[in-house]
Amino acid sequence: MPVRIVWFNQILRVDDHPALLAAAAQGAVLPVFILDPEVPAGDHDGFSGGAKRWWLHGALSALGADLARLGSPLLIRTGPSAEVLEALCRESRARGLDLTRPLDPLGRHRLERVRSRLPGLDIRVHPGVTLFEPEAIRTRSGAPYQVFTPFWEALRAHGEPPLPLPPPERLVKPEADLAGCLVSDLGWRPVSPDWASGLRRTWEPGSRAGREGLARFLADALARYPDDRDFPAVDGTSRLSPYLASGELSVREAWHAVRRAQDAGAVSMAPADAWLRQLAWREFAWHLLEAYPSMRERPLRPQYEAFPWREDPADFRAWTRGRTGYPIVDAGMRQLWETGWMPNRVRMIAASFLVKHLLLPWQDGARYFEDTLVDADLACNAFGWQWVAGSGADGAPYFRIFNPTAQAERFDPRGEYIARWVPELAVLPPEWRHQPWKAPPLLRGEYPPPRVDHAQARERALAAFARVRDPRSAKA
Ligand code: FAD
Repeated sequence: MPVRIVWFNQILRVDDHPALLAAAAQGAVLPVFILDPEVPAGDHDGFSGGAKRWWLHGALSALGADLARLGSPLLIRTGPSAEVLEALCRESRARGLDLTRPLDPLGRHRLERVRSRLPGLDIRVHPGVTLFEPEAIRTRSGAPYQVFTPFWEALRAHGEPPLPLPPPERLVKPEADLAGCLVSDLGWRPVSPDWASGLRRTWEPGSRAGREGLARFLADALARYPDDRDFPAVDGTSRLSPYLASGELSVREAWHAVRRAQDAGAVSMAPADAWLRQLAWREFAWHLLEAYPSMRERPLRPQYEAFPWREDPADFRAWTRGRTGYPIVDAGMRQLWETGWMPNRVRMIAASFLVKHLLLPWQDGARYFEDTLVDADLACNAFGWQWVAGSGADGAPYFRIFNPTAQAERFDPRGEYIARWVPELAVLPPEWRHQPWKAPPLLRGEYPPPRVDHAQARERALAAFARVRDPRSAKA
């Protein structure tokens, strides 16, 4: 019986996995995950962040169990992808390889290396990361969209994304008995010090948990999504980002589940559209990364290359530790450290504070997020940071500088979120939780004073940003 290798290079699930389904239709299937240590300096394959690795340990264990149930267990190997695949072809007599199309630069580079090392191998590349292939949503001149709203309109005009595929009914295991390593051999779960207890308390990785989370969100929270999503004290968003980022949950499945709920009359158009629009932001970020592979490190607006960033390790450290003296920023950064996640509104406020109040490079913030987020996603993270910095394709203009206190008063009016994550401020009445520097020193306890004064930081940021000669400065 012919053998095909299925390389789990991007998405860790058995449902809606076009590469797996196509291979299963043709004979025996060897499912493989490769931990490739060959990562050029400054690059990243989405598998190197600490919190993400903790997550992937769980995701791979769950995937292994699903594949074993279907009949062909997951083989895990470490080494350069092309060499590992070459050895596996020899050992299993595989003549074909199915994989998910990589849209990130390192994934594309690895695929090219596989092609050139194994010219005789029948390689088939399948979709799986996004709703549509990037080429499908282009401007009339065939260029990628640079601005979200026309992208969203074009995406909707394109019609519904393809329906998710079922998992294969069963898999035939290749005859050869091949040696691989265990998930635990990858060393992705911290032992000493064990910094992951907050992650364990908060999350359950794996496709099944992701699909249950989706069902719960549709039943309990989607109807209120437009009203609740910006209020961090309310559990108003889906928290599905880690499952989408590791591909345990298919974005096409999430999309069509909303459509089914709409058809069944369980949810109305406004909340459904509001949430699908968020899936489209993810889509936009991935289409942009495919078109601009350097987006993780370099500003999409080239004039931002010359931005006069500061260097200040003490400020950066205060930000990462949640000790900036601005409670909403600190609450977010402490939630991130404890749980590997932060709501979108707080990500925007915390990121903006680093870039605009502290004038520290967005790339440093992005790297810190990549290391600490369980949902670290190459495209969404780079896109989010460039959006905040104003250097992105469709970014917040540089002169829009979030006032962290006003943001907190608006989106956490009673300071409940702040009290939860900065417990030393919980003793203060709500109005002081937003501005603890106004409270009597005895009540503030160990909480630090503001690292920078908002009005002065704003002026400094405006002066620095004016130097990059952004054409949008005319609107300021
Ligand atoms: P929901 O509101 O339920 O949205 C559903 C899904 O839509 C999300 O799971 C996500 O896949 C997608 N989505 C939502 N908002 C955005 C957005 N603004 N941009 C792109 N996709 C979006 N998201 C990541 O998945 N990984 C990251 O590494 C990441 N880094 C970010 C960094 C910064 C500085 C900012 C401002 C945003 C970042 N985001 C990132 C986007 C967003 O904050 C998260 O996707 C969202 O908070 C996840 O929560 P949720 O699943 O409850 O979202």
